[in-house]
Amino acid sequence: TPKTPDQTWLESYFYPTLLEAKAYKIDTPVVDVKLDQNESPWDWPQHLKKKILDRVAEKPWNRYPEPIGEELHQRLSDYVGVPANCLLTSPGSNMMIPLVFDAMAKSLSGKVVVARPSFALFEMHCNYAGIPYETWDLDENFEYQLDRLPELPDGSFVVFASPNNPTGTSISPEMLETMLAQNPKTMFLADEAYYEFNDQPYTHLMAKYSNLMILRTMSKTMGAAGVRLGYLMAPAAIIEQVKKLRLPYLLNHFSMEAAKIILSDDEMQAFVKKNIENAVSERDRIYQALSKKAADGGFRVFNSKANFLLLQWLQADACDKAYRHLIEKGILVRNMSKGPGLAGCLRVSIGTQEENDRLIAVF
Ligand code: PMP
Repeated sequence: TPKTPDQTWLESYFYPTLLEAKAYKIDTPVVDVKLDQNESPWDWPQHLKKKILDRVAEKPWNRYPEPIGEELHQRLSDYVGVPANCLLTSPGSNMMIPLVFDAMAKSLSGKVVVARPSFALFEMHCNYAGIPYETWDLDENFEYQLDRLPELPDGSFVVFASPNNPTGTSISPEMLETMLAQNPKTMFLADEAYYEFNDQPYTHLMAKYSNLMILRTMSKTMGAAGVRLGYLMAPAAIIEQVKKLRLPYLLNHFSMEAAKIILSDDEMQAFVKKNIENAVSERDRIYQALSKKAADGGFRVFNSKANFLLLQWLQADACDKAYRHLIEKGILVRNMSKGPGLAGCLRVSIGTQEENDRLIAVF
């Protein structure tokens, strides 16, 4: 066991904001129904997995994979309709967040502005890295409002997710276009992890505005969280800078081969499409069912454009009680109530029809 240095020694090496910050923590009690991470509840059939594994077996495992993954970038480019030199992949989109913040947000002339409540890693990384930021607070219905956006001096950087995690609310392409046009000297990073559930992508705006970057992942709508593949889309000049921080050989043979096949194989794409349709119809079914119970249960259900629903109890301890009760019934959801702006909130991911029936029955 390596000998632990004393605290003062640690303080001389690690920046204070990192020492003070809490680590990202995920509760993992063992349950039968896992509705806590906005994953797809449908695993891939064996014969589709085998297509990928056969391809991985053909790769030389004694050799490094491609340093950046040019072939995958080309495949992604064909899929999203953005040139390959305007794309950059990473093992999950999580990984891209510190890279982009470190490349762009450390020494700004303007402000860093982060949507709140939104994906926890945005604020968390600012806190770890000691990057000062302001928040763009959603309204009492967790909707984005333009007039709540802080004043943006030139050289600002605004980060938000749409559809937003954990609220499920979104920014329409028209509203985003207004923001881009009104603030041409502010860079906007839109996290579109859930966009296929909503089908209002922003990519077309990138041709007209140079101040838009988009982050995506194959973890949610593609049902491939275990593959670990995220990507950034931005003007080539920006990708060139972020790429300097993105270490070579980050993606292994499996992630790259799986992603390439999922993006181009008709049977895989049919599986993805069917799962998106099922998740959307199940989401709407649960929304209807829980809305009927909400008034008597003392909670609200928010309409969502993603594969989860946010519930908010008026009394915070009732939310913790509901969370524990669901675990007792074998169902794990995400207790968001400690997050800023999320008092009394649980987030429920959409499961299979059978899992959702169990959830509704508990309510
Ligand atoms: N962005 C948002 C908005 C998310 O909800 C998540 C996952 N919860 C991610 C990014 C990270 O996804 P991944 O690292 O699996 O690509």
